[in-house]
Amino acid sequence: MLLRMSSLFLRTLRDDPADAEVPSHKLLVRAGYVRRVAPGIYSWLPLGKAVLENVTRVVREEMDRMGGQEVLFPALLPRDYYERTNRWTEYGDVLFRLKDRKGADYLLGPTHEEMFADMVKGEYSSYKDYPVILYQIQTKYRDEARPRAGILRGREFVMKDSYSFDLDDDGLKRSYEQHREAYIRLFDRLGIAYKICFATSGAMGGSASEEFLAPCETGEDTFVACHHCGYAANAEAVTTPAPPARDLGGLPALEVLDTPDTPTIESLVTYVNEHHGLGATAADTLKNVVVKVTTPGSDKKETLVIGVPGDREVDFKRLEAALAPGEPEIFEAADFAANPGLVRGYIGPQVLAELGIRYLVDPRVVTGTSWITGANEPGRHAAHVVAGRDFHPDGVIEAAEVRAGDACPRCGESLTIDRGIEIGHIFQLGRKYADAAGLDALGPDAKPIRITMGSYGVGVSRAVAVIAEQQHDALGLVWPREIAPADVHIVGTGKENQIEVALRLAGELEQKGLRVLVDDRPGVSPGVKFKDAELLGMPTIVVIGRGLSQGIAELRNRATGAKQEIPLADAANLVYAACRD
Ligand code: ATP
Ligand code: MG
Repeated sequence: MLLRMSSLFLRTLRDDPADAEVPSHKLLVRAGYVRRVAPGIYSWLPLGKAVLENVTRVVREEMDRMGGQEVLFPALLPRDYYERTNRWTEYGDVLFRLKDRKGADYLLGPTHEEMFADMVKGEYSSYKDYPVILYQIQTKYRDEARPRAGILRGREFVMKDSYSFDLDDDGLKRSYEQHREAYIRLFDRLGIAYKICFATSGAMGGSASEEFLAPCETGEDTFVACHHCGYAANAEAVTTPAPPARDLGGLPALEVLDTPDTPTIESLVTYVNEHHGLGATAADTLKNVVVKVTTPGSDKKETLVIGVPGDREVDFKRLEAALAPGEPEIFEAADFAANPGLVRGYIGPQVLAELGIRYLVDPRVVTGTSWITGANEPGRHAAHVVAGRDFHPDGVIEAAEVRAGDACPRCGESLTIDRGIEIGHIFQLGRKYADAAGLDALGPDAKPIRITMGSYGVGVSRAVAVIAEQQHDALGLVWPREIAPADVHIVGTGKENQIEVALRLAGELEQKGLRVLVDDRPGVSPGVKFKDAELLGMPTIVVIGRGLSQGIAELRNRATGAKQEIPLADAANLVYAACRD
């Protein structure tokens, strides 16, 4: 492969695009890899397309190697498949819905569990047919609430999705392990650093779902890790160890206190310690946060109060994960005005049952714990408010923020916290979709066996951005060789016959099987050419410049910045060797 910059459909930009905040987005746009069409919708230009194809190839090779078989579904899908599983409704605003000319409902597929289950049902019937793993590399559509960072979170994006079909739970576990190993291999090949994190709470069986998160400051996911026992989990999935319930006997009675001007936890703690001698800390207070929750498919919004220890904030992402498919929103001033029973800044759970409002609490709020909380009157709080005596929560919710130093739920040592980007997700689904599709195999005794499924995703287009995000410097992109659009970028500068020599070397390297990009643009200054070479990010750069008259070329390693003069006479062999290291 030989690409000549003089004719390549490429225009690099000097300035960062105005709408870009993260490095990968800035660089991919500046380097002419992608162009924005609409929010979360991007086109791929030749170099970008080459990177996307390279990522796709690695993913495909590893899926094939583990025994997956590739198929391809349409993106345009009729409603009824998703109606059967209620996802037509549950997906809420994320689903792109449309109608055909006859008024029939369609959607653009956000993920394809329903379709795969139905396809297998159509082809397979006997237990002898199983297990099977099918996959596709295909364009997905999600009307994300917050499309972000270019192709990192698109509304149209490329995903590898695969699905395993097994006769029993052991089979599902094997298919899951196979995927886990394939993902390890493929992300290693893509040169992405990642951490495998539990993605669902222990209630689902611990290893039922894991996410591959690429550590990255700009990531939207937060994950915890324990360096003592190796536990790692998405913050959304971290479980809080609950203390044992305590005896209700002998606890002081609830006491209402005057606490003027104490709408914040900090002001409250200072006040009650100074005026009521309580010796309290923020952790002794119970903070009550009101949200309104919409259930997709219903217009009604439920008012819900969440109780967390006052030294912690409610983490909205954890809250969202805990309430899904319900969608929480912040309770606004107008909502408070419409609910006079809820006194902003002074809410206590004592009145919630009476108001008919559901109350969910942090796992630390066990029976017998005693709290300082609102007294439901402006300027007043209550002390010695005891769970199980003065209020009765309707349930427990994991919504409080997780903090560095919190106890590891597995070994009790302290957790670290980092941010990351989800690049892959493996999930033991079980029988939900097989139930909806009626997917059975006829067993050896002629009795039907309900199939159990796994679902596994890789963000293929997102991976391009993640590689760019993890591997760049102040000058530009730095592609790992397997993913780079070309092995070598040859820059011909100067006024002698440098360009001719560069083209000759390019031809020789192409003959040897390298993928070559050559800057043969006449009349473009060396400075501009060097800047472009650094921005575009090929792993090896060769400069045919002023040294030409002495028979010398320069060999650069883009990642390390190392430069080396090489004799032109032997340049083809030396560059080839450098690209094979
Ligand atoms: P996220 O939490 O980032 O929204 P998700 O959990 O909704 O992702 P899955 O449904 O598990 O994503 O999809 C499988 C993979 O597809 C993800 O691991 C991610 O790499 C990728 N992906 C999901 N949503 C997007 C998107 N909007 N743009 C690009 N890639 C995406
Ligand atoms: Mg996911």
